[in-house]
Parts: sequence; structure tokens; C-alpha cells
Amino acid sequence: MHADLLRSLPKPVCAYLYDTAALRERAASVRAALPTGASLMYAVKANGHPSVVQTMAAACDGLEVASGGELALAVDAGAKRIVFGGPGKTDAELAAAAAAGALINVESLHELRRLAALGTAPPVCLRVNRPGGGLHGSHTMTGTPTPFGIDETQLGEAMTVPGVHIIGFHLHAVSNNLDGAAHAAFVTDALTWSQRAAGELGIDLRVVNAGGGFGVDYLSGASMDLTPLSAVTVPPGLDLIFEPGRYLAADAGWYAAEVLDLKTTHGRTFAVLRGGTHHFRLPAAWGYSHPFTVVPVDEWPHPYPRPSVRDTAVDAVGELCTPRDVLTRGRHVDTLRAGDILVFARTGAYGWDISHHEFLRHDPPRFVLVPDAER
Ligand SMILES: *Cc1c(COP(=O)(O)O)cnc(C)c1O
Repeated sequence: MHADLLRSLPKPVCAYLYDTAALRERAASVRAALPTGASLMYAVKANGHPSVVQTMAAACDGLEVASGGELALAVDAGAKRIVFGGPGKTDAELAAAAAAGALINVESLHELRRLAALGTAPPVCLRVNRPGGGLHGSHTMTGTPTPFGIDETQLGEAMTVPGVHIIGFHLHAVSNNLDGAAHAAFVTDALTWSQRAAGELGIDLRVVNAGGGFGVDYLSGASMDLTPLSAVTVPPGLDLIFEPGRYLAADAGWYAAEVLDLKTTHGRTFAVLRGGTHHFRLPAAWGYSHPFTVVPVDEWPHPYPRPSVRDTAVDAVGELCTPRDVLTRGRHVDTLRAGDILVFARTGAYGWDISHHEFLRHDPPRFVLVPDAER
């Protein structure tokens, strides 16, 4: 967890550490677990830090982007391939994606018609919200009413839109699935369904995009077992795309925040951090307690007593003026003092990127890349 690096940072410590070598190692291990014939894209929305994006552009087959801003990042990072999705694309974003040579995942009939009107006929996949075919995770996106994709019953109408070049389907269905065998079964079913649907609709099927959704369990430290995926058979000539974000980036990031104050009110102990949900919103958004470890900092340069607790359950809370600024509730500590640093592991994905940075206008964290010598 890079204790010495954290202790060396300016005080009060508040930082995200990102380890680009860990990103490369994870990308290599995911690739090794995927079936032959599969492509690995990184979903930029998990972590759009330019160094992370550059690392993944080199380590993966391409990048998955979901806005004009992410598209620009991916182009700057030299992505070998780009796929572009998202339920609300503007005409300008569609044109930029087509100009960048991206494979566009079209999410509605109206979007398909708007794309056709651009006149360039770039290759597209239809994102489909199938009945069934869903998976269990933290967010389910298909087999249920959502803003994502085209209802399966409307695919025939999509085929009547002139001036588009449909080469496959996009079937991203879930986020944070923890069951590898179920995920492999979903992918196999997605391939079977795509071949049948393409046959019925008259599509020359080249691409099936199975999306992302490989899960990590923040509470237990477990991750989805990828081994069942290697047994999926990819039909010859077909490009099976995976585009995970969380699984690739989560373990390459740590959020660290110094304890500014430590107090007990009405029998409950609070560690108030130089940081909070405006930097790391995920636990508040999902309603769980993110585990932390304590990096002890022994120096105490002040003449007044150092707040400290022993053998106590503490709530790790932030510096915002709201009782909802909570990262962790009731976690036991052997010893904790003001000036110690709490480190939240597995925060390389959906950490800073999903947080409401401007609320209360505190200084942002430092962003520190772990030097190779520290590994
Ligand atoms: C968010 C997203 C991903 C990545 O999801 P993870 O759960 O981070 O793997 C992939 N594809 C699409 C279309 C997405 O919206």
C-alpha cells in the first residue's frame, strides 16, 4: 500500500496513487484469461486520468469511450481502436467518432437515423436490450426497462434505415458481476443469439461486443473468476469484444487521506479526514463501507495532546458539511491518531471519476504515479 511514499507526501496527506505497472500486469492477465479471438478494450469511464488512459491504450487492443471528452482522450492517447457508446450522443459527438474511425454502438432508432444523416456510413453495432439474457451485479442494464440500447422488437425497423453499415451487436448487460461461470454463460448465449439474429435480419455479422461488468467485491477483497471465460468458443471470423473498466483499474489505485480530527460524540467515534466523498463517492453511492488500512505516522510536532483512540470501531468521514460524507462505518482499529493516514485500496476505478469534486470547493487530492522503484 506504499506507506513510505504516502508518509513522504506534503501534509495533510490527501492523494490518489495510481500504479501504471499494475495496470499493465492486470491487462496482461485479463487478456490471458479471454478466449482466443477476443479483443480487450478498456472502458475509459472507470478512470480517465491521462496516464491511466495512455497505459491502457498501449496495454489493451483499444479503448471504449462514452463521450466526446473521452473520445478526445482516447485519440490523444493513441488508442489502436476505439468503440464509442452512450445513450445520449450529440450529432457533433457522432461526427467526431466517425472521423476518428471509432466503431459506434448505436443505442436507438433515432440515433441510427441521425448517424445516417451524417452521410459517412461508419461501421456500427446495434446495442440491444434483449428480454432475458441479463446478469446479476450492481447495475443491471438489459432484460429490464433501461435507457440503454434498442428493444429487441425494434431491430427489424432498424434494418429499414438506409445509409448505415451494421456489422454487429453490443450487448453490455451488467456492472460488477462476481460470478465468472454465469458471465461465461452470458457471453456464449450472446454469441448464439447474435448469430441467430444476424441471420434473421440479414446482417453480415463481424462483431459481438459482450461489454464489461467483471466484478470486484470491495468487502471481501475477492474478484470475479475469469477462468470460465477462456472456455467460450468464438466462431471463426468474428471479433468478440470485451470492454471492462472496473476489473482492469480498481486494483491499480489507492485513495489516501490524513486523519484531521478524531472525536467521540454520543458514543460513536469519528475519524474526520482531509478528503471524503467529493473525492471518493462510490461507498456513498452504493451504500457500503469501504475497507481501509491505517498507515501510522509517528511524528507529532505540536505542543498540545494528540487525539487518539485504541481498540475502537470508528466511522471514517470526510471534510464536507453533511452527515452523508461517510466512507466507512464501524471499522475496528487497534490504534488510530490524528495525523495517521487511512488508505482505501481498490479505488483505481470509479473513484475520483464519479465524485462531485466541486461541492464545498476543498482542494483536490494530489494524483501520484507510483514510481517503479516503489514496487
Ligand atoms: C460502464 C461500461 C463498461 C465498463 O463497465 P465495468 O463494469 O467497469 O466493466 C463497458 N461498456 C459499457 C457500454 C459501459 O457503459
